[in-house]
Amino acid sequence: MPINLLKLYECGYCTHPEKIVNPKKNLKSIKFPATVALLKHSQQGYMLFDTGYASHFLQETKYFPYSIYSKLTPVYFLENQSIKNQLEKDGINANEISTIILSHFHGDHVGGLKDFPKANILTSKKAYTNISGLTKVKALTKGCLLELLPEDIEKRMSFFDESTFLQLDNRYGPFNKGIDLFGDSSVIAIDLTGHAIGQTGLFVQLPSGKRVLLCADAVWVSEAYEKMILPHKIAHLLIEDVNSYKENVKNLHELSKQAPEIDILPTHCEKSADLARRGYVYE
Ligand SMILES: [Zn+2]
Repeated sequence: MPINLLKLYECGYCTHPEKIVNPKKNLKSIKFPATVALLKHSQQGYMLFDTGYASHFLQETKYFPYSIYSKLTPVYFLENQSIKNQLEKDGINANEISTIILSHFHGDHVGGLKDFPKANILTSKKAYTNISGLTKVKALTKGCLLELLPEDIEKRMSFFDESTFLQLDNRYGPFNKGIDLFGDSSVIAIDLTGHAIGQTGLFVQLPSGKRVLLCADAVWVSEAYEKMILPHKIAHLLIEDVNSYKENVKNLHELSKQAPEIDILPTHCEKSADLARRGYVYE
């Protein structure tokens, strides 16, 4: 099997009132851990899905206008939680990461990019076009800190959505279009536009037969797709395409019913962070 393992890491967290993700809850702040997935592919070697928070994020958000970001969503991060340092602890050097697949360009997903200067970056053109060339302030309104992107990003980046989307069979539930990233059916990218334009999710096939859907920020918490809970209206400020967002929640719900054997893992869900804390490895 081309993908030998998948392991999650928790790389800091931010806090928000729970009411934002579930209008029935109160204003008590809850943690939104930022997780990163490590994949090992037999030909591609080690790859990451997103990069979490890193010291670059804290550095950039010290000053105006980016300080607004850290005031709205306080971030808790220690240097040993960066994905680079956690990989090092697992015996993986940053230079061994061949590819970073980016779900979208929000600060908590690209925070650690600069720690991997040799990695190729694979993402959707739709997501990148939506944020490249924006002014600092405009980008910030979209949750993006352009300074977190390496200067040579365009030299190292390729877009998987320049290939045509394939028709997926019913094993993917209502997600009927995707791109086979490595031509071996091990990682299928799907368009989860909603939370961000061009947001990408990955279906990953493991040797044991297990399948995982890394659904990025299509929902913040698993409860949202399990019980079809839509976020508070105020969260619409954080959602670029509200109708597509709702469609994704519905599709994830259907997938969880049609294929309950698939682990659906949102980046900021406690369920994902718990797997990370336990050091769980999908094989
Ligand atoms: Zn996001």
